[in-house]
Amino acid sequence: MTVKIYLPLFALGILTALKGLSQTANDTINKESVKKMITYLASDELKGRVNYSKEQLEAAEFINKEFSSFGLEPFPGFENFYQPFRTSFGGKTAMVDVKWNDKKLNDSLYYFFSRSLSVPALELSDFLILRTTSQLADSILYYNWNKTDNILLQIVLDDTTHFSEAINNIKAPGGMPASNILIVGVKEEPVSLKVIPNKNLVTSVLYNVIGIIPGRSLPHEAIIFSAHYDHVNKGLDGQDGLFNGANDDASGTTAVLELAKYFSMRKDNERTIIFCLFAGEELGLLGSQAFINYVNSESIKAVINIEMIGIANIEGKNTFMLTGSGYSSLYKILKRNLKGDDVKIAGQYSDPQYLFRRSDNYTFAQEGIPAHTIMGSDDSEPCYHKPCDDVQRIDIENMTKFIKAIAKSASTLISGKDTPTRIKGF
Ligand SMILES: [Zn+2]
Repeated sequence: MTVKIYLPLFALGILTALKGLSQTANDTINKESVKKMITYLASDELKGRVNYSKEQLEAAEFINKEFSSFGLEPFPGFENFYQPFRTSFGGKTAMVDVKWNDKKLNDSLYYFFSRSLSVPALELSDFLILRTTSQLADSILYYNWNKTDNILLQIVLDDTTHFSEAINNIKAPGGMPASNILIVGVKEEPVSLKVIPNKNLVTSVLYNVIGIIPGRSLPHEAIIFSAHYDHVNKGLDGQDGLFNGANDDASGTTAVLELAKYFSMRKDNERTIIFCLFAGEELGLLGSQAFINYVNSESIKAVINIEMIGIANIEGKNTFMLTGSGYSSLYKILKRNLKGDDVKIAGQYSDPQYLFRRSDNYTFAQEGIPAHTIMGSDDSEPCYHKPCDDVQRIDIENMTKFIKAIAKSASTLISGKDTPTRIKGF
């Protein structure tokens, strides 16, 4: 009996495993899926995924869901796929209403740092309560911030210090908090407290979304695929509007998601693959700068950042460009792996627009990591940072080809066969 029951299950297991191994890019990366993903990311509903907007958080939640469905794992030491980071831009509170002793607190008097985007409703008994003066607030939080799920840091302000100053002096947590942290600047001791999620409140915290597939035999060596999922809400002429950022960089975001799906189906990566979708790029590469503190740069063997591959205006259809191609041997490796393919890779031999320095690859390059950006178009594209950067202009077919080619070109990096030289000369 048992044999009869177990045999088919066992056979099924083998079939699934074989299917996983023989899975080609053609099966998983396809036009329909690419179109669906980029159409959502660049939809009016997400209003351009602007930094500090609730729509950007919705985009992050979408990426989070995709990562979960592919079976990715969180980055080691992180609780989940989100990496929140505080920026010095904007001083607004985040995502919750606070009732202190039955009175609603003005949102200039508190700051909420959530470790995840699903914020729970909380009350006083849920918190470890720390009360201190403004001078000691930073160090007291620093020594306690991973002790419990929820921390309430009450800063008892003296008459000369404003809460905004006190909060600016708090450095921790700079990256991944293990706790939800509520910082409040009031004198009155708390008798009752209610923290109520309110997604309409903008946050001064941005969220990278990071997932990994651990390597089979070289888990301590990693290849990064990255893109930024944020976009601008102002044109170069200062004009406000709805900028959907389809090419910049919903296209790169879609590529990273498709690659995550593809490699998680194959599951044959010898090196660890890290998929990074950064926020804050348009504010000056803030997301990658927040993330790089968590990696040992020696262990990162290559970074392939992906920008604006939805339109091919640099080299024409079927060819993408690698920025800074002379600074490491990554270009030669990718080119060799694409031999015979429809899609070609072009080098970049001068950089009058400073493209190499203007995307998240640059953060990694500064640490000596061979980190470059694959681009289909540059800022001479007529809708670059303009409201007309819409999904209707995206060449889905060509973009799908590009994503498949990126997977193919990186194959010997993923298998551990090739290691590019460390970057230099830029
Ligand atoms: Zn961009």
